[in-house]
Amino acid sequence: MSISPNPKRTVAELRELRGFTTDENGAQRVAFTPMWVQTRAWLRNKLETLPVETHVDAAGNLWSTLRGESETCLLIGGHMDSVPNGGWLDGCLNVLAGVEILRRIHAQYQGKPPVTVRLVDWADEEGARFGKSLFGSSACSGNLDMTEASGLVDKQGIKLPDALREVGIDFERVKDSGKELKNAAAYLELHIEQGPVLLDLDRPLGAVLGTFGVERHAITFHGQAAHSGSTPMNRRKDAFLAAAKMSPEIYRIAERSQGGVCTIGSCTTKPGIVTSVVEECRITLDQRHLAGPALARMLQEAKDASDKFAKEGNVKVAWERLWQIAPRPFNDELIALCDEAIRETCGQVHRLPSGPLHDAAEVAAAGVPTVMMFVQSLHGISHNKIEDTKEEHLELCVTAFDKLAEKAMKWICT
Ligand SMILES: [Zn+2]
Repeated sequence: MSISPNPKRTVAELRELRGFTTDENGAQRVAFTPMWVQTRAWLRNKLETLPVETHVDAAGNLWSTLRGESETCLLIGGHMDSVPNGGWLDGCLNVLAGVEILRRIHAQYQGKPPVTVRLVDWADEEGARFGKSLFGSSACSGNLDMTEASGLVDKQGIKLPDALREVGIDFERVKDSGKELKNAAAYLELHIEQGPVLLDLDRPLGAVLGTFGVERHAITFHGQAAHSGSTPMNRRKDAFLAAAKMSPEIYRIAERSQGGVCTIGSCTTKPGIVTSVVEECRITLDQRHLAGPALARMLQEAKDASDKFAKEGNVKVAWERLWQIAPRPFNDELIALCDEAIRETCGQVHRLPSGPLHDAAEVAAAGVPTVMMFVQSLHGISHNKIEDTKEEHLELCVTAFDKLAEKAMKWICT
């Protein structure tokens, strides 16, 4: 006997959630706030109709467990928290689709699926209040930097450990959350794409290959300030000219990398006055790629280009790394199953990397085979009240994600 999930119920529940967590500016489910606590209570209420064991772990992640024949676990995850003035789907679509899948699996296997199925609502995925995303999942994976996290403060000057105590979490113990990954054999996460790729290709759903690695640097060119009237063009040491040449160059670097992206996001000049040649020009460069070697090549090419432009302009250049994270490729076999589930649901599929980080990246980093499924975002926009997805696509993604969960259970059993 095969039972189908009820995707219309998921859409109705998303609307119900929007009804009490959204104001005229968008969703307001910021982690560790009263609205977030209320959202969680609403979620637990939904889960109460199922024979699941529910508890909050040491890092504030909410776990609901449907025991199966085996202790080996299939994990499904998402996050109920939002950014301030956020969209109605980011994070909670994943969780509510997971609730529907638990219902379907419970009904189909009369409460005893072949493997244990666990739904996790990660705490503070967005990092909206303390400026550090993936709090709950990075505590669970063990990657959370405790020294850095202990010093984080919100706009009111409240420290993260104090905000956590307010909601019953002991900061010193958050990494105990790691024991939740015991017996985890696969992790699945559904998410809105938050970008325009599927929209432009006219595909409702995509299988995600992994999350991009990121290299973030400041590049400073040093020349010489000189009078804009008295200095002939051939005598200048113009730091801005050298920095400006980087702009078209990063487009060529991105194109050669086949799949990478590069952004110069800021540019500041000194002395920064209208009558002086620029002495110092600082730009920032953000480079991302799914493949580690390709990302390293992109970085080297940018460094080589900066040296060349500095030499041409008779200026000096210095690099400073601001931040870096390795690519997190997902599991090949699970990607193939995700692909298959999408094809069976809507005939066509596209494979794509994820530019944004997600909790799935942390679970993958902890060594659990992981895959994500993306559903098309209208306007390619998220973290905004206009974030939206067609209703038919929302229904398709629940159906496809449920098929993926079934395939993953079978995959775990073989
Ligand atoms: Zn999200």
